[in-house]
Amino acid sequence: VTPRHILKLSREEKRKFIDSFDQIYSDCDGVLWTLMDPIKDSGAAVKLLKNEGKKITFVTNNSIRSEKGYLEQFKQAGIETDIDNLVHPHKSILLYLKKIEFKGLIYVIGMTRLKTILKEAGFEVIDGPNELIEENFAVLMMKIFEKYPVKAVVIDVDFNLSALKLMKADQFLRKDDCILISGATDMTLPVGKFGTIMGPGPFLKVLEEAAGKKAKVVGKPGKELAELIMQDESIKDSKRVLFIGDMLEQDVKFGRKCGFQTLLTLTGGTTSADLLKATDPELIPDYYADSLGDFIEFFGS
Ligand code: PLP
Ligand code: CA
Repeated sequence: VTPRHILKLSREEKRKFIDSFDQIYSDCDGVLWTLMDPIKDSGAAVKLLKNEGKKITFVTNNSIRSEKGYLEQFKQAGIETDIDNLVHPHKSILLYLKKIEFKGLIYVIGMTRLKTILKEAGFEVIDGPNELIEENFAVLMMKIFEKYPVKAVVIDVDFNLSALKLMKADQFLRKDDCILISGATDMTLPVGKFGTIMGPGPFLKVLEEAAGKKAKVVGKPGKELAELIMQDESIKDSKRVLFIGDMLEQDVKFGRKCGFQTLLTLTGGTTSADLLKATDPELIPDYYADSLGDFIEFFGS
């Protein structure tokens, strides 16, 4: 099926589309803003959709910005929302650990805030090495790591990731009872006018490959995040939810995994040429728009 541009629907099809969903789950970066800069008319579009009675929940893979930082960013984009309407990797990692009633020591590859949040929730956490290692005794350190009773490795974006952290994580994961949990899996991150940079995904692939173990993924497009979101009691029928995002691999795939309808905006990491090239049905959205701001013309005509 070829995706339909929301502005190319007939008046009747537009009404049918709007009436076909009760609520929206929307990605953040690439739909509402690019890095810091609000995308033109995204705030106004959110307002119009809310006026139509659509509840909106936001889902991001970006844990560099804190939940509090998101509130500021929403304000700047002219969007009124609160923290309960944001699905953030840190929150999802915690929810998942609680859901599986996790007990035991956790080795974290991630930023300081993630470690703090886990500790504050009562989990016992180790990390590092955080100092420069220039000697080959590092190899011997691996034998010491074997003794730590680590039962979960949590990996999310970490600007201070090192070969040794990955090797250490691998040591823990070699034990059958140690699970791997991941936040964001983005292979690439579109950063607006700066182009594209490498995301945390390739590092996770390295670790999975080395340890021979697949991660439980609580970022988009993870099955474990889909399961957490499907606990939302306001979802009565998944087909009556619209997922909006800018990435085929992160957003469209995730929306499809949840059984939602999907809408791609071309304001982030996907061009119309990319969309045309996509052949995997899991990656093809039901609808697309040049921008979320298209909803202004959509409702105006
Ligand atoms: N992960 C990181 C580290 C990022 O910096 C970004 C965007 O800047 C993302 C993920 C993508 O965020 P989102 O899921 O809101 O598009
Ligand atoms: Ca995005």
